[in-house]
Amino acid sequence: MFDKITLIYIAISAIIPILYLIRFVTYKTKKKKQYVRALAISFLMFFILLFLGFAFKLVYENTLNKDDKKDNKTTTTEVTTTKENTTKVTETTTTKKTTKASSYNYDKILTPTGGEVIGKTSKGYEIKNVDGIYYIDGYLVANKTYDLPETYNPGSLNATVKAAADKMFAAAKSEKGYNMWAQSGFRSYNTQKSIYNNYVNRDGKAAADRYSARPGYSEHQTGLAFDVCATNKPCITNGFDNTDEAKWLSENAYKYGFILRYVKGKENETGYMYESWHFRYVGTELAEKLYNNGDWISMETYFGFTSEYGANKA
Ligand SMILES: [Zn+2]
Repeated sequence: MFDKITLIYIAISAIIPILYLIRFVTYKTKKKKQYVRALAISFLMFFILLFLGFAFKLVYENTLNKDDKKDNKTTTTEVTTTKENTTKVTETTTTKKTTKASSYNYDKILTPTGGEVIGKTSKGYEIKNVDGIYYIDGYLVANKTYDLPETYNPGSLNATVKAAADKMFAAAKSEKGYNMWAQSGFRSYNTQKSIYNNYVNRDGKAAADRYSARPGYSEHQTGLAFDVCATNKPCITNGFDNTDEAKWLSENAYKYGFILRYVKGKENETGYMYESWHFRYVGTELAEKLYNNGDWISMETYFGFTSEYGANKA
């Protein structure tokens, strides 16, 4: 019911009034009326401290959210600065600083150019690193093995992905009358950080790692993936698994270029538990291959790569 942090707040808020009461009782004998008054003061202290604790927590969480917004703004400003600097060769320091953050071309993440080949998968597909982002056979990969830079922040779903999703949801609506939408799409590094930390506090690290990505390892940070919700159906939980909407998505998403990313019974391949609601854009060509006539193949197995923390680190 309560998470760890809430329990700590309650415990801290209780300690001071309890100490006050103990001191009152042991100091010297008093009248009944004074006891009642001391008890009332203790309760008042407890609630004031509790209130201050939660007010602090609220302010702190708001600051985290603001940080995310700041990140988006910074990226935009830096892109503009680079443009201005192309003619000014003298401002070397500024140009150097901005090159790194603005080198991600978010419009081209589906069709990368350049980068260096860093190896091959077990099935012989080329692994490339383009500006710190990993591509396998030309497909951007973010899983437990291949992480994204902290500064990679497209700010929203990729335009191609958004258009394909709109088309898919419109088809579901007109074919079956299903009302679906992308509930959770792009997530920044900082948002993922606070989400993951909350889960670790609630369920512990080992359990959290089965369903939530560590910051920098989430596919939501790519801007290519989203979680689907449907009207009056359980949202982003196992309750969605057996809904008609989930079945429709599993049978039709590939036609719009989407794959069921965390396939059922393949946690050892993808690194995550089955998620009937999480879809990722790869384009219709690869999506149809992975759909495999209804027997979904994971990206990891198809291309022959792993999803394990630390596997790509020296
Ligand atoms: Zn998801």
